[in-house]
Amino acid sequence: MRLSIVVPCYNEEAVIDLFDLRIRETLDTLAIDYELCYVDDGSRDETLERLRGLAKNNPGSTRYVSFSRNFGKEAGMLAGLREATGDAVVLMDADLQHPPELISRMLELYHLGHDQVIARRSREGDKKMRSAVSRLYYRMINKWVDVELTDGVGDFRLLSRPAVDALLSMPEYNRFSKGLFSWIGFDTVTFDYRNAAREAGETKWRFGALINYGMDGLISFNNRPLRLAIYAGLGLAALAGVYAAVITVQAIIQGPTAPGYVTLLVTVTGLGGLQMMMLGLIGEYIGRIYYETKRRPHFLVKETNAPRAFRVGDQA
Ligand code: UDP
Ligand code: MG
Repeated sequence: MRLSIVVPCYNEEAVIDLFDLRIRETLDTLAIDYELCYVDDGSRDETLERLRGLAKNNPGSTRYVSFSRNFGKEAGMLAGLREATGDAVVLMDADLQHPPELISRMLELYHLGHDQVIARRSREGDKKMRSAVSRLYYRMINKWVDVELTDGVGDFRLLSRPAVDALLSMPEYNRFSKGLFSWIGFDTVTFDYRNAAREAGETKWRFGALINYGMDGLISFNNRPLRLAIYAGLGLAALAGVYAAVITVQAIIQGPTAPGYVTLLVTVTGLGGLQMMMLGLIGEYIGRIYYETKRRPHFLVKETNAPRAFRVGDQA
């Protein structure tokens, strides 16, 4: 069999050579046919030069694609998956947080007939705050959204060819891979490993980016949040109705009274805020429709050593 390793890289000059060394060591002991598909996601450092060097050292088993700018990890993974020719594909980070040794375990499970083999990391070593927020987020998303997401499950996984083809058949512009992986289904198995620290360089995720990523997860899969907005609106309208009845009865019994500024203000501002939030929610969906209808490519390639004609965009 042939195994493809897909590695999105953004400013990874500090660690990419080490990664290449370690992964080849591991793969050589497994004695299988393999290829490494690196995707340079518009790095501003020497990552591309390093990739050229790696491709020169091992021309038969190294491919790289370099984007014209930073398109994000999702686009990087997509490009890598399109580029991969293997019977199975492993998605990995360049920073060695995904231990290469686990690949043999993944292959074992793959040979047992599983189509998705997921390595789930423990959260030890993570910032307390970040893991707490993550846990809360996953609980929320599993409640609201159709797809099942598990805390600690990242992109580190093995995908069989049918699973890869299923992923590639989904053309959406807003890609939220965690959800897509879950959506396609197939025979899935998960095993745990200990979290490792980044080998070199630093994390590319800023807090704001994480928030946006979280929003994508909530909104990419269905319109249930919109329905939530409808229920909230209905609930509030019902409350307002009850309140109106109470006031009316009061006015009939006691005659008209002047006080009530606080109630009035609280109601007006509260409702205003809620309306804004729901407009924003609707806007978020419309924005997505807007991007989808443009049908822009997910990424633009400026350089590659790949044989396929794949240069201008990714629509071919
Ligand atoms: N990455 C990417 N494009 C981006 C951000 C990240 O290709 O815009 C890659 C990065 O080079 C690494 C992987 O995605 O190989 C995971 O990133 P990182 O280690 O910074 O994330 P963390 O492990 O902190 O979640
Ligand atoms: Mg990392």
